[in-house]
Amino acid sequence: FRKIQTTRLSEDELYDMAITFNNMINRLEENFDKEKQFISDASHELKTPLTVIESYTKLIKRWGKDDESIREEAIEAISSETQRMKMLTEKMLNLAATERGDESIYPESIELVSFCQAIQRTLSITYNRNVQFLSDRDEIYVDWDPQKLKQVLYIFVDNAIKYSDQPVQINLKEVDNRITITVIDEGIGIPKEDLDQIFGRFYRVDKSRNSQSGGTGLGLSIAAGIIAKHGGNVTVESEEDKGTAFTIYLN
Ligand code: ADP
Repeated sequence: FRKIQTTRLSEDELYDMAITFNNMINRLEENFDKEKQFISDASHELKTPLTVIESYTKLIKRWGKDDESIREEAIEAISSETQRMKMLTEKMLNLAATERGDESIYPESIELVSFCQAIQRTLSITYNRNVQFLSDRDEIYVDWDPQKLKQVLYIFVDNAIKYSDQPVQINLKEVDNRITITVIDEGIGIPKEDLDQIFGRFYRVDKSRNSQSGGTGLGLSIAAGIIAKHGGNVTVESEEDKGTAFTIYLN
């Protein structure tokens, strides 16, 4: 038999190793709990539209042959719930890919003034709402993946539009050598106690308050993941019934 070379570790070294292992296990456990929570939240979110689809299918089976209005109502409901499930699954896949870190980003130099103007035009037309754009410079360049930047801005502007009925502002600025885009609305605002949780997966402030807007609670976590991947961060300031400002630090 080959003799195995062993090294004797000092007590201090053993102690350090134990601490390191302990920290590793804690982190693993935390991640594992988060995954379990994600699966349970995701199943719950998908179950609601499935239940609606199931009951409307039963309705068609029972009454659909004789009653055209029931048939139409059921088909409408099934089609809208299917759309919602599709959107939810797409968002979940997107989030999982970003969080696993295996979704590549393709940064390139973007001129932000014209980029934001294009987004402002598209979103004003799409939502038929007043979206304004302000910049303190004529040109600002940043290295970002353009598709991802579009996705991130859509998420914040979409929320600003959803949670207010006033004009929405996109503000481009350079602050302490960092390029920032702030999305400002004068809408319902976010309660103080919810502010540090809104970036969590599936988190929505008071579900009943938002139920009509059909949100998923995934938008902000997707946005935060993409921003972090580009080396940036995002902050939020909000006051209830006054409005909200999300500031994206792009670099
Ligand atoms: P959702 O699909 O529900 O909008 P998000 O992850 O985008 O999910 O946002 C999480 C929650 O944060 C929302 O449900 C809403 O309660 C709150 N929120 C986000 N943006 C705003 C905003 N501009 N004004 C007020 N509340 C907001």
